[in-house]
Amino acid sequence: LNTFFQKTISKEVSVLGIGIHTAHPVNMKILPAKANQGIVFYRKDKQISIPFHYKNVISTNLSTNIGLNNVSVSTTEHLMSALFAYGIDNAIIELDGDEVPILDGSATGFCMLLNEAKSVELAEQRKYLKITKTIKKTHNSSYVEISPNDPNKETLDMEYSIDFNIPFIGTDPYIFSLSKESFIKEISSARTFGLMKDIKKMKDMNLIKGGDFNNAIVFDDNGVVNSEKLRFKDEPLRHKILDAIGDLSILGMPIIGKYKSFAGSHYLNHELTKAIYEDNAFELVELESF
Ligand SMILES: [Zn+2]
Repeated sequence: LNTFFQKTISKEVSVLGIGIHTAHPVNMKILPAKANQGIVFYRKDKQISIPFHYKNVISTNLSTNIGLNNVSVSTTEHLMSALFAYGIDNAIIELDGDEVPILDGSATGFCMLLNEAKSVELAEQRKYLKITKTIKKTHNSSYVEISPNDPNKETLDMEYSIDFNIPFIGTDPYIFSLSKESFIKEISSARTFGLMKDIKKMKDMNLIKGGDFNNAIVFDDNGVVNSEKLRFKDEPLRHKILDAIGDLSILGMPIIGKYKSFAGSHYLNHELTKAIYEDNAFELVELESF
């Protein structure tokens, strides 16, 4: 994961899908970008660029949504999670609609696109965001926390737990250390999930209009409603890690630190990344040349 130089992709790749909340069809292209540009969303239909930056987050209700000048892009987190895990520092995400396609509800499709696009190194050196103090954000019994990693570690390490009060999901924490390989193997294919009792409520709120059994796991009191079985017995927990990686990637650089959460949310992750910047809880470091 740790490289000396910044990366982009070697060529443009594209996919057509629908948004989970709007159900609108959307064409998405990922394009190479220059060094120090970061990840920039470009709404082609409105000709507006929206850098993926915490100051551009406009809402965090069920997904992380960015916007600028009344133009928005919803559900950034699964794509961002894949880009971050692949170490892509700079890219343009071009969309002709207002939501990133949901595909199968996981990051698998985005990983396939990035495999096809192949990463390339740029001439400029990469900076790493090293967490230097602990920050915790809480909401009722939920929390997210970031703290400095052990002195010899240059990774983002994560520990996540949830308790849905549904016996078959369990409450054991999931321990994860981010690398491209560990992400592909353990996290990327974990799908979006929801509880049957919440779904009608969300549809009434005009959310998840594009949600169906092909892009989300649905649980009721008896277990999984979908005909496709779980990909992992703790698939929802792994998906929470997928979401958290995508949300943390808004810091714009690879992160050296320890993330811990119980039942976190896009809202709490956004509060955390905002606080990391505003409380100066980091230093920028460059890796020694090998
Ligand atoms: Zn998600």
